Amino acid sequence: MNKDDINSIKALLSSPKAIVIIPHKNPDGDAIGSTLGLYRYLKMYNHNVIVIAPNDYPDFLKWMPDESTILKYESQQEESDDYIKNADILFTLDFNSLSRIGDMEAAVTAAQGMKIMIDHHQQPDQYAKYMYSDVSMSSTCEMVFNFIDMLGDSDKINSDIATCLYAGIMTDTGSFRFPSTTSATHHIIGNLIEKGARNSDIHNNIYDTNSYERLQLLGRALSNLKVIPEYRTAYITLSQDELNTFNFKKGDTEGFVNYGLSLKGIIFAAIFIENQQENIIKISLRSKGDFSVNKLSRTHFSGGGHTNAAGGKSDLNLNETIDKFISILPQYKQDLKA
Ligand code: 5GP
Ligand code: MN
Repeated sequence: MNKDDINSIKALLSSPKAIVIIPHKNPDGDAIGSTLGLYRYLKMYNHNVIVIAPNDYPDFLKWMPDESTILKYESQQEESDDYIKNADILFTLDFNSLSRIGDMEAAVTAAQGMKIMIDHHQQPDQYAKYMYSDVSMSSTCEMVFNFIDMLGDSDKINSDIATCLYAGIMTDTGSFRFPSTTSATHHIIGNLIEKGARNSDIHNNIYDTNSYERLQLLGRALSNLKVIPEYRTAYITLSQDELNTFNFKKGDTEGFVNYGLSLKGIIFAAIFIENQQENIIKISLRSKGDFSVNKLSRTHFSGGGHTNAAGGKSDLNLNETIDKFISILPQYKQDLKA
């Protein structure tokens, strides 16, 4: 995003507009944090702003400032369609392909409003008039901070905005430990704390709200963990029956995939979660170093993401999906073999 783009956007935002802000389907901490942070900022200029999420998200995100104002397209479609159709501007945050917003895709594609993308995933589609796309960024929240700063408004970041942005940077960087965490990330984090983000409370709100059942489900996931040492790979499966046994709720499996990656010597980890309602296996992939799970997911599992964190899905059943997964590993032996 160059100076001209920023000036054009600034001019555009200088009078009240109807604005819709959209995160990806199954929004995570970065998606909800970035949309709510931007929401609060734009509200200060008396724009008519609404965040519309494609579907619901985990309870551990339901404490953020203004979270209760978010519309969910899956259950509030009519109202949402009106906002989308009448929007002057649509911000799309934390994704870069309209296929990532599920059932909202048709309405957003047809929308006449100006689209602005803020995102850090690889290989962006070209649907937006203005694109702030940077794969080197830790998170979309870091980019929303930069965006507000580029507009000359960093002094407008109050404790609510700071809280939202902090939460998203924290979750997308695995609490500041992934390689995407730079000194700039830490400078921004320091700045957000100065502006009133209560770092310890935010961490507690997100990570220390486990239910007993979630921990039991984690126990099951860990006992299902399999290792393929020759490919430095580990994977976990969870069937729908197992999820039901532990009264699975959205978000309960968040972070499970990282346990595979925490094994000594493992550089590639996966989790396969059966979703009977959607009739798919949802896949999360993680890696260390140069091995790109984004590429692997794009090639074999209709997904994508980042080099070290990606997602995808499979239409085969759980066992067939695992067979497929194991059968493709030799294609990556150059990267994976010790
Ligand atoms: P997670 O495994 O935590 O669901 O997602 C890891 C990363 O991959 C996130 O940045 C997420 O946005 C992205 N991602 C997850 N699922 C998909 C998918 O189905 N398609 C694409 N393109 N990206 C995904
Ligand atoms: Mn993100």
